[in-house]
Amino acid sequence: MLIVMKPHATAEQIEAVKQKIQSMGLSAHSIPGAQRVAIGITGNREALEAEQFITMAGVADAVRISQPFKLVSREVKEEDTVIDVGGVLLGGRRIAVMAGPCSVESKEQILEAAAAVKSAGAVILRGGAFKPRTSPYEFQGLREEGLKLLALARERTGLKIVTEIKDTETVPMVAAYADILQVGARNMQNFSLLEKLGSLDKPVLLKRGLSATLKELLMAAEYIVSRGNHRVALCERGIRTFETMTRNTLDINAVPVLKTLSHLPVVVDPSHGIGLRQHVPAIARAGVAAGADALIIEVHPQPDKALSDGHQSLSSAEFATLMKQVEGIARAIQRPLISPVPT
Ligand code: PEP
Ligand code: MN
Repeated sequence: MLIVMKPHATAEQIEAVKQKIQSMGLSAHSIPGAQRVAIGITGNREALEAEQFITMAGVADAVRISQPFKLVSREVKEEDTVIDVGGVLLGGRRIAVMAGPCSVESKEQILEAAAAVKSAGAVILRGGAFKPRTSPYEFQGLREEGLKLLALARERTGLKIVTEIKDTETVPMVAAYADILQVGARNMQNFSLLEKLGSLDKPVLLKRGLSATLKELLMAAEYIVSRGNHRVALCERGIRTFETMTRNTLDINAVPVLKTLSHLPVVVDPSHGIGLRQHVPAIARAGVAAGADALIIEVHPQPDKALSDGHQSLSSAEFATLMKQVEGIARAIQRPLISPVPT
């Protein structure tokens, strides 16, 4: 249930509502929003009676939330969540582009990639330091050394950094370096990890699981938000279907559906979504046209030498060409790209 307070409700009236919720053994969540003060209630097993709240001073309405995901739903918060990543606004009118290699491989590689993606117009640098690989014999990432190189690239370029958090043990270490923590597809339902991220003050990029439904993705986001971390972005990165010509099938439907069901920003990952370098630009353009708030794209200075996902990574030149096309589409839908800050 969502308790909507009157525009001029006093702090005492708001507190009284929270106290009442807590006295019933339930959780009260303040819903951030410019328009109104609202309090979400979770933890009830049965439907609550609206009357017991509507009669309280300062309460405008008590609304049942029909979806199983509560705090991330549009029903609870009408306006879009805008995540402020150190000045880069994710989920606002403007579209953000995140780009960089699948894995951080060396100082030269990450600095070259960072400079290239920035000059093409990206505002956030991606790069994995802890890599969840299908095979234990494949490159697992440079770990803390990789995080340090990302931090160096940030210092040199001003780009924000997004990197994957693979397990609960490394949360403090990765959080100390990253601007956004990426939860990989394989970890979407790692509930201990989600709970831990819920108590951090750090934006999270939550990737859709390999065969997760949109409801499961939203419920996973609910784990993080219900613990108090409201800065979550959802990422469509392709799902497993019967198709074998492509690595995954990017579910373009997910973009408008998630935007309707939830107020959280939606990010499209065309690289893992199709898994073929040649076709990444088409899917990136489609993502923007469909209403994504951001793109995350794999770019490598020498894709053929990449230690992971080279087959789906764009070269710097291919990325620059794509960015011009994306800019055009973004402008056509009145959602210009966020521009990088000059170095
Ligand atoms: C990645 O971003 O490199 C990655 C491993 O993505 P996913 O978790 O979507 O497979
Ligand atoms: Mn990858």
